[in-house]
This record gives sequence, structure tokens and C-alpha cells, in this order.
Amino acid sequence: MGEAGDPSRDPRVVKKMATLLMQGAVMLQETCPLDGLPLFRLRSGEIVCPVHGRVMIVSSEREARDVEVEEVLHDVMYRAALRLREEAGRGEPARLREWVDIIRGIEEILDMRRRRASGGNDKSQPEERG
Ligand SMILES: [Zn+2]
Repeated sequence: MGEAGDPSRDPRVVKKMATLLMQGAVMLQETCPLDGLPLFRLRSGEIVCPVHGRVMIVSSEREARDVEVEEVLHDVMYRAALRLREEAGRGEPARLREWVDIIRGIEEILDMRRRRASGGNDKSQPEERG
């Protein structure tokens, strides 16, 4: 039924946006990085997308992609954790280790990204070759 590609025509989305406005939210010029819908600032100060709920404001396409990457990483880590629990039930230490390594790897990436995001560009090194 729903036409893909333009969520702003979805009656449920339109209704949600109308509700937000009635609650005193303000429609912003910024758009959701995931679906392109206008974002709303609630009276509490939170910025939300009518579809995704709470989102962060992004100022560029690259940051939008970053948000997506972060979501994927969290998703993969969650799945890995579920597998870890499964394997733990079977009591196979070798398999456990694989999943622990995956989780640790993702955590490191997330940590690196977080540090880079909060620390600014203190280390703007040229590309390493080799
Ligand atoms: Zn959205």
C-alpha cells in the first residue's frame, strides 16, 4: 500500500508530525539523516524525527553516514553477544573466544570513533602509506 521513497506522504507520519506540532514542537530546517524527514524540537529541548524518535542533528552527509555506521556496529555487536550466550550454553570455549574477539573488535572501533568525535582533530596526520 504505502508508497516507498517518500515517508512524508505516509498518513501515519503526517499524523505524527501534526501531533508533535500540537504539543508545541517546532519544525526545524534540519532533516533526519536516515529518512530525510524534517526534525522537530520538543518543548523539552530534545530533537526528534517523527519516525525514528530521538535523533542527533547532523550537519553534513558524512556525519549522517557516521550515524548509520554506528547503528550497524551496535547491531552487529548485539547479534554477536546473542551468539556468545548461545555458545556459552554449549560449553565450547574455542567458539566463545571467536565471538568475544568480534565483540571486543567492535567495541574498540566504537571507542576510537567516540574519542575522535569528542577530541576534535588533534591528530591530523597525513595518510600513512605502506
Ligand atoms: Zn528519521
